[in-house]
Amino acid sequence: MKRPKTRQRPNPTKESFRSEILSVPGRATKPCACGKTHPITTRRLVTGPGALASLPGVLAACGLSGKALAVYDRNTARLARKAIAPLVDAECFLFPDRGAVPCDRKSLGRLEEAIHPGIRFVIAVGSGTINDLVKIAAAGKNRPYLVIATAPSMDGYLSANAAVLVDGVKTAVTGLAPAVAAIADTRLFRTAPEKMIRAGIGDALGKYVANAEWRMGELLGLESFCPEIWKRIRRELDALLDAASRGGSRSDAFLEALMRTLLVTGIAMQMSGNSLPASGAEHHISHVMEMRGYASKGHAPSLHGLQVAFGTWWAIGFYERLFDLLGEDRPLRVPAGLYNSHRKDWKGLGIDLDGAISKKLALLEKVPATTALLRRKVDPAALRPFFADRKRILSLYRRFALPNTPRACGLTMEEARFALTHASDLRPRITVIDLLYAAGEMEDALKPLKKT
Ligand SMILES: [Zn+2]
Ligand SMILES: [Zn+2]
Repeated sequence: MKRPKTRQRPNPTKESFRSEILSVPGRATKPCACGKTHPITTRRLVTGPGALASLPGVLAACGLSGKALAVYDRNTARLARKAIAPLVDAECFLFPDRGAVPCDRKSLGRLEEAIHPGIRFVIAVGSGTINDLVKIAAAGKNRPYLVIATAPSMDGYLSANAAVLVDGVKTAVTGLAPAVAAIADTRLFRTAPEKMIRAGIGDALGKYVANAEWRMGELLGLESFCPEIWKRIRRELDALLDAASRGGSRSDAFLEALMRTLLVTGIAMQMSGNSLPASGAEHHISHVMEMRGYASKGHAPSLHGLQVAFGTWWAIGFYERLFDLLGEDRPLRVPAGLYNSHRKDWKGLGIDLDGAISKKLALLEKVPATTALLRRKVDPAALRPFFADRKRILSLYRRFALPNTPRACGLTMEEARFALTHASDLRPRITVIDLLYAAGEMEDALKPLKKT
C-alpha cells in the first residue's frame, strides 16, 4: 500500500499542520497486498497546530458549498463563534444543556429539526457525543458532515457507528456515513480536560490488543486480518510512544500523535468494513462495564477510553498467560456450563444475551482439544510482535495515571470481576479470555485483582 500523500504547510505563525488526502471520489481504490480492496469514505484529514485555518480549503476540496449548520455544545460554543464562524457560511446550533449533552432521542430530534432544507452540510464541533449526534442526524437527513475535533478522547470520530440512548439503554447505530473530513487543531486541545486526554491514550493503547485479537482470529481460520491496515495504525502508535517519551501530554507533538492514532483507527475501520482493527477483548471488557453501569445506575462507570485502558492492562496480562500456556501441553475444554450460567447473570440486569451466548458456544466448538493442537494454528511468534512494546505501554499507565485497578475505574471489585469474566459473552469471536477459560486458567489469571 502506498504511503498517503502528506503535505506540511507552514502558516504565518510558524505553526504547521498535516493535510492528508485519503480518497478521491470516482477514483477506484487499488487492491491491497492482502488481496482485498479497502475503500475509504473520508476524503481529507488535517491535523496539527493551526489546522483550523484549512477549513475553507477542505470544504472546497470536498465539494461542500452553501449554508452549513455548525453544531456545538456549551463547551465548544466560544470556539465555534470566534474561530469557525469567520471561515464558513454557517447557521449555528447550540445544545442548550448545561452539563453533558445526552445522546438520546430528544437531542437527536432537536438537531434534526435544525437541519432544514436550506442546510447543505453539517459541521460537528466537539468530541464524542456531538460527533455521534451529528453523525446520526446528518445520515437521517441525507447530508454530508465533517468534524472539527476538540479533544483527543476516543476513536469514534471517523467510524460508521454511533451510540444513542434509547429508554436508558445505550444502543449502537451502525452503517452510518462517516465524516467526509476531519480537522484536528491541536491548539484547541490545549484546554481539553486532562481526563479526556487520558481516556484518549487508553483508547489508543487498546489497539495493540485489538489487532492481536484480529490476527488471532485469522490464525484460528475465523477472520481475515489485513497486515497493511495494522501497519497504518502501528505507524501512528509508534509516533505516539515516541512523542510520549519526549514531552508532556500538552505538547503539540504528543496531542497530534494521539489524535492521529484515534482518527487513523477510524479510517482503519472504514477500510476493513468492521470494528476489528479497533476493538477486541479490551473493548468487550469496557462494554460490559457500561452495560452493567447503565442497567443498574443509569450511567457508565468511567469515560470509554479509561474503561478501555483497564481492559487493555488486563488483556495484555491474559496474553502473557496464553503465551506460557502455548509452551505447555495440556487439554483444552470449553466450560459450557459457565457460559450458560452467564445467561442468568445478564437476565438479572434486565439484559437478554441468550442469542449471543448460544452463538458463542457454537463457535467455541472450533477450539482445539489441546494446547499442542492450538499451537499448530496459533503460533506465539505471530502474536508476540503486537506486544513488542509491552514495557513502554505499561510504563504509560504510571505516567498518565491510567486505570488498572477497579477503584481507579470507578468500579467495585465485584463489578470489575464481572466485566473481566463476562466480556466473553458479547461477540461471536474467540478471544484470549475464551482460551483462558478453555485452559481452566481464568481464575488464576484474575488472582492479581485481589491484590489491587
Ligand atoms: Zn488489506
Ligand atoms: Zn474505543
